[in-house]
Formats: sequence, structure tokens, C-alpha cells
Amino acid sequence: MFRTIKLKLPYDASLLETGRQFREACQIVLDYGFLEKTFNKNKLNRGTYKDVREKIPTLPSALVQTARDTASESLKQTKLMKKIHRKSHTIRYDQRTFKFYPDSHTISLATIKGRLVFPVADSPLIKKHTGKYTNAQVVIHTKEGKIFVMIQVEVDDADYETVKKKDASVVGIDRGIKNIAVLSNNMFFNSGHLKDVKGRYQYNRKILQHAGTRSAHRKLREMSGRERRFMQNANHVISKKIVNLPFDVFALEELETAKMRKKKNGKKFNHKLGSWSPFQLEQFMEYKAKDIGKSVIFVDPRYTSQTCSRCGHISKQNRNGSEFHCKNCNLQLHADLNASRNIEVLGRSEYFRLLPTSQSLRFNESMPTGMGEASNKHHLSGWGS
Ligand SMILES: [Zn+2]
Repeated sequence: MFRTIKLKLPYDASLLETGRQFREACQIVLDYGFLEKTFNKNKLNRGTYKDVREKIPTLPSALVQTARDTASESLKQTKLMKKIHRKSHTIRYDQRTFKFYPDSHTISLATIKGRLVFPVADSPLIKKHTGKYTNAQVVIHTKEGKIFVMIQVEVDDADYETVKKKDASVVGIDRGIKNIAVLSNNMFFNSGHLKDVKGRYQYNRKILQHAGTRSAHRKLREMSGRERRFMQNANHVISKKIVNLPFDVFALEELETAKMRKKKNGKKFNHKLGSWSPFQLEQFMEYKAKDIGKSVIFVDPRYTSQTCSRCGHISKQNRNGSEFHCKNCNLQLHADLNASRNIEVLGRSEYFRLLPTSQSLRFNESMPTGMGEASNKHHLSGWGS
């Protein structure tokens, strides 16, 4: 799996100019691709290489190539439907154009002045994420006068193995319409908690449970870049807050999507799902939890919203919008909170059922307790990166 180390670089004139030229090279390829209706890398290369070299002779040819790849991906993303004006001065680096030296806190980067070595600011992440440094991005913020490098590290999965505990504490989490997450310990997370982001958080329960349907695809297409970024930020903040709570295990409902992903393993589909919010929340939670030795587990979503978390009575009549009112024992509770408590119960039995065979990830026995039908579905894979 992959991790990212973000480090501050000096605000250097050569880097700034490299960023400017990189952007210019991207733009030439973007314009050509749009005009010729292609995002094929070979065609883009044949059509623009000479032009780019002549107009921007000081940009190293390896960076001309990564600029072309960057442009090709943007063209592909927009399906050549609209003209793209690249504003970002972010430079993409690959194995040929950068080398990171974690011990001396330096990085060597290809620039318009040739290879230059820069000092990087120290960060605990340098020691935390060790492995192969596969690629990097130099992100230039001209307004703030700051430059960062984001280094991608391929880390060993074994380093993040979680240990199952006999006295583990479990919390259930319901992902809902108005509330992004409701926890069985009475905590509610919604976008109102996020003061640093603006925007709206929109999806509905149907889409939440059945991505892969036509309406879900439409919704994803309609989502603007701004909305996407808002959601991503919201999910980062919330997932971080949740996994840092004093619990060892975080139980979530398994989304239809997760199954869908296994069946329909298209790259395109996965990419779309990656930015689809409830799914993204679980991905972020999975890797953030793993990082600190905690676990995320998945339970069968059936009946969690209809079951009374006090007496176990199951009825559709129990729920009315955001109100839960048990027809059997009269319990009255916020519906999402009731669901999260059921998820906690299922999560606990799921977790402890797995305990004896701890590290094995194959389990076919049915569940010993729980509400409604026993579940034998799980999803403990670690594709959080
Ligand atoms: Zn009840």
C-alpha cells in the first residue's frame, strides 16, 4: 500500500520557473489533445514533442514527458468535452526525475537548471513511512509563497498489521443522509462541524446503498470538482477524528458498493467510487485506523435501521424518518443513533467471533448472535491506499 509524505521545500526561484514551464508544456499538450480529440499518450507525444522542445527548451525532456502524461490524464477525465486551462504549477516527478534522501533530509529534483538538491523540512512521517519512494509532486502555492513536495512511498503491509485484542472496545457507526456519521457513543458528525470548508454535502440513502445504479452514476457525473474537494476534505477530517477516539474497533455497515467493486473491477469504476463520499469515508478510516493499530470491520446492513437496539424487535413501522419508535418496548431514539447501536452489537460479535483465528482473513461460520438473520459477510481487505 501507499502512503504520502508531505514536506516543505524552500521557496526557490528555479523551482518556481520549472513549475511555470511545466504548466506551459501541459497547456500545449492539452490544447493539441482537445483540437485533435485524443488523449492517447503516443499520439500526444508525436504531435507536441517538437513544439514543446522548441518553445520551452530549458524544461528537461523527462519533465516534458511527465507533463504530457499529466495532460493526457486531464483530457481523459474530461472526456475531451471541454477546453482545459491549466492553472496549477504542480510538477510531477517519477523515478527518473527525483531522488529522496531521508537520512540527510534532502531531495534531488530535475529543474530547468539541471538536477538540484534541496533541503526539506523534518517531519515524523519520514521515519514513519519507509519503503520505496515511487513518485513525487512539487506543489507550488504562489499566493502563500510556499512550496511543498508530496512523496509517495510504497510501504510494506506487514508493518501495519493490526493485533486483535481480547478486551477491545467497539463503536458502531451509521453513515446517513443528514449526518455523515453517527456513532453509538452518541457522537454526531455532520458537515456543520467543519468550519474550514464550505459547500454542501449531498447524497441520498438510496445512492448510498446502491452505487452502481444509473442514478448513482449520474450523481457522480454531476458532482463538481469543488463539491468533490469539499467531500474529500470532510471525509479526511471526520475519519481522522473518529479513528482517534478511544476505541479499538470501528464497525460500519457494508455498502453494496464494496461488493460491486469486487465484481466490477474496472479502473474507471474504481476511480469514480474513490471520490464517492460514504465509500471514501470508509477508505480513509481503514488506512488511518491501520496506521495506529486499530481496525475497521464491516457488518451486514440488513435490518440495522428497523431493529430496536434495546429489545431487538424488528419492524418497518419502528422507523419514521429520523425518528425511531419501537412498537414493542416504546424506545424512542434518533433513528441513526439506533442504527449505530445495532451496528455496534453486530460489530462486536463479528470482531470477537474472529478472535480465535485472529490473523486469518477467511471465515465461513455463521454469526452466533445478532438481530435478524445471521451474517457471514465480511470485508476486511486493506485497500486503503
Ligand atoms: Zn424495543
